[in-house]
Formats: sequence, structure tokens, C-alpha cells
Amino acid sequence: MRPGELEDPLGEDKTRPEECIVHKYPDRVLFLAIDTCSVYCRHCTRRRITKGGEAELTRDQMRRGIDYVRNHPEVRDVLISGGDPFLLGEERLESLLAPLSEIPHVEMIRIGTRVPVVLPMRVTDSLARLLRRYAPVYVITHFNHPKEVTPEAREACERLVDHGVPVENQAVLMRQLNSDARIIKELSHKLLRSRVRPYYLHQMDVAEGCEHLRTPISKGLEILQQLRGHTTGLAVPHLAVDLPGGGGKVTLQPDYVIERGERETLFRNYKGETYAYPEPEETDCSCPYDEVWQARSRESGR
Ligand SMILES: *Cc1c(COP(=O)(O)O)cnc(C)c1O
Repeated sequence: MRPGELEDPLGEDKTRPEECIVHKYPDRVLFLAIDTCSVYCRHCTRRRITKGGEAELTRDQMRRGIDYVRNHPEVRDVLISGGDPFLLGEERLESLLAPLSEIPHVEMIRIGTRVPVVLPMRVTDSLARLLRRYAPVYVITHFNHPKEVTPEAREACERLVDHGVPVENQAVLMRQLNSDARIIKELSHKLLRSRVRPYYLHQMDVAEGCEHLRTPISKGLEILQQLRGHTTGLAVPHLAVDLPGGGGKVTLQPDYVIERGERETLFRNYKGETYAYPEPEETDCSCPYDEVWQARSRESGR
């Protein structure tokens, strides 16, 4: 390992109350359901898990993970990852989705997988129907380069969407592989044509053996600046930095504000032209009807 590189770059093991649960944010958890992958990414950030250093998850650990979610009413979103959860047999996957979706406070489930990219034939009608039964289930996939959006991969994504399973993408910015606005833009366009929404563009984590793939923060910002305004807003992902040591994700935006005044804010638009936005006369933003509406929905139980 090089200096600065970390075995657990996101500090996940510090917030890991169960073997398969990472609980870092208030209302959602990461559920590590499997330690094997559909492809072993060069830029993996969870190599400590997928390299086989930890024992395979047992049914008992899985049950303890589900119990953890059940016992934590603040958890309304469960992100199933690993490893690649789509390597689980359908029965096994269902034995996870069914109990999770029965928990009243779990409002949504997400599944992180590279299967649509690297093993698209695994996305069968039967798998898509299974996911649809436990809706809302969102699939978060991982294309990094437009060349990966093959006809087969596109078909896999469209099969999910056709069955009512929304698909989003997270890409990782990698030096000299996709660190160019033209490439990211083409990736976004190909994804949208496949009905996949670009979600995150990740700044490379300081993971073991990945130093040569990292880009300066300014590169990601420059890429976003070359997308925003120049193409469809849906094609512009959030640029995320997952802070080393467990700080969690923060997102970055190019700075369009030239000057923030009391009466107006001065902006630069995507073409570099200057525009002013005036402040309103009234600045009290409390919502006086909110209490009435809340009381009414309590009465009607809706
Ligand atoms: C990324 C991540 C999530 C999900 O974050 P969102 O911004 O809601 O997509 C949840 N838990 C952990 C530990 C994560 O790293």
C-alpha cells in the first residue's frame, strides 16, 4: 500500500453494528449481502471484503442484519450491496427482499450491482419480476465508460425498466480512462437512451492500489461544468466525494456565484455571461398551513 491509501477507505468498519450492516447516515443503511462479485473491479473500494478475507455471510448473519433493520425504526431505505447481490440465487435474494419489504418503516430498497454491465444475461424476466414484486426496488448499476453500454447491457437495463424497476447509474472517475467531459457526456447520453438515469459520478476513493487512477478534484468539477447547461439536465450526475475515514459523501458543484449581496446574487451562467437574481421583498419562509394539513392527515389517517 502507498502512503495515504487505506484498506477501508470509507471508514465503513467503524459504523458496522452487524457483520452485514453499515449504518453511517441517519435514515438508511448499507446491507452487505454477499462477498463475491460479478466482476472484480480494478478500482474496488471494498477489497477487504471481496478478497475473501472475511468468512462468507451465513444465513444467521443475514437474519441478524434483517433484525437490525427491524429494530431501527429510523431506517427507511436499505441499500443492498456486497459483493454483487445479483449473484445470489433468486430464492436467496427473495429471502432477503421479502422480510425487508415487510418491515413497516422500510419505504424503499436499492440494490447495487454490476450485473447489467458485465453479466447482462443474468437479468432475466424472472429476476425482473421478482424485484417488481417488492417495489419500490431501485437498481443502482455501475457503467464507467460508453463502451460498456453494449446492446446486451442496454437490453438488460431496459428489461428491468420494462418490468417497473427504475435503474440508476453510478460511475467512478478514473484518470486516463474516463477523465474527460466528452466521455462522461457520451456515457450519460447512452445511459439515458437505455432509460438509465445517471446518479453519481464518484471521485476515486483512496483505496489500496488505486493511486494511479485518482484525478484531482478540479477535474470532476471541470467535467460537470462542461455538462451543466450544455446538455440535458438529467444527463448531469452528482459529483460525490466519499470522505476518507468515514465522513460520508459530500457533493461538489462548479461555482456559478460571483457575488452574494443582500439585494441580489450575481451569477455566471454556463456560457460565462453574468446575470443577477434579485432577493424577494418577503423573507419569512415558515409554512403556516403545514400544521393544519398535518392535523387533517392525522384525523383522516392518510
Ligand atoms: C453511499 C452510501 C449510502 C447511500 O447514499 P445516498 O447518497 O443515499 O445514495 C448509504 N450508506 C452508505 C454507507 C453509503 O456509502
